Amino acid sequence: MADFVLQITEWYRLNARALPWRETKNAYFIWLSEIILQQTRVDQGMKYYFSFVTNFPTVEQLALADEEQVLKLWQGLGYYSRARNLHKTAQQVTEQFNGVFPASYEDLLSLKGVGPYTAAAIASFAFDLPHAVVDGNVYRILSRYFGIDLPIDSTEGKKAFQELASELIPANDPALFNQSVMEFGALQCTPTNPSCETCVLLQSCASGKNERWKERPVKSKKTAVRDRFFHYFHIEHEGKIAVTKRVDKDVWQHLYEFPMIETLSAELLESDLAQFPVQNMDFATVSSSKHILSHQRIYATFHRLTITKPSDLEHFEANDIGSFHELPIHRLMHRYVEKYMN
Ligand code: SF4
Repeated sequence: MADFVLQITEWYRLNARALPWRETKNAYFIWLSEIILQQTRVDQGMKYYFSFVTNFPTVEQLALADEEQVLKLWQGLGYYSRARNLHKTAQQVTEQFNGVFPASYEDLLSLKGVGPYTAAAIASFAFDLPHAVVDGNVYRILSRYFGIDLPIDSTEGKKAFQELASELIPANDPALFNQSVMEFGALQCTPTNPSCETCVLLQSCASGKNERWKERPVKSKKTAVRDRFFHYFHIEHEGKIAVTKRVDKDVWQHLYEFPMIETLSAELLESDLAQFPVQNMDFATVSSSKHILSHQRIYATFHRLTITKPSDLEHFEANDIGSFHELPIHRLMHRYVEKYMN
């Protein structure tokens, strides 16, 4: 076990990328980076990180921001409930902790949207507390290196990996260990293509030879994925564009999009069109795409709908084209807007 810790931390010293959130002990900045990196890869997350720390240099400034401004800065990252939680957590820190990020693992866990992984990351990186992070990287590396075949989605498996990580983390530099495992998982022991031949752990790794890494980590069940079919209608008339805000408890809550019909299959039937407020619709299909979320596959079709009566716009929120571009929209809309409206 000691060899594992020594080798992986040594590897980190030689191979770690220089990342801005690793240069700071500011718990607020570290928290921001962690929430952003739950959404995206490091290279893409960088611009979001800089945008948040520049627009809101303190947690209080984020707390006071308008929710739409926060969603707009978040645009493109997906999972907008996390952006709303981010905003609420900033308000919670401001109200309950006088604007100072809590310095204990338990208090960090009491924050909205902060689970054991994020609490351990902040506790170790900002406050040097010996709490081991356990996420997909950790499951992967520990299961492969130590040859553990307990399912990572079982209670027993989760407990065993948490205990092992807690045993491994050295009290004298917990941040270094956590960073090392995360970086090693991102660069060396990757999910589908680990670089075993060049790995410093190869000699002692239980899965490095004969491609045994393909067998680990073990999962007991597959997540059910639901197919959904969205038909969007791009409606513009005399400089105005129709939008709606998603208000239901569903994906992309509080974000804007074109008026839409959700159907039971890919086909758009007369009975589906009958639900739409505009009657006798004259439209042409512009694009179709598939959008994958964690538990849903969304098949989206965008149609351009021509209207002749301004009163048809009254069924929706109508915006000037300029102000439409200021609204927070989800990634699926964003892709369409970039391709067909710029
Ligand atoms: S030898 Fe391969 S499977 Fe083992 S830790 Fe290194 S990269 Fe991962």
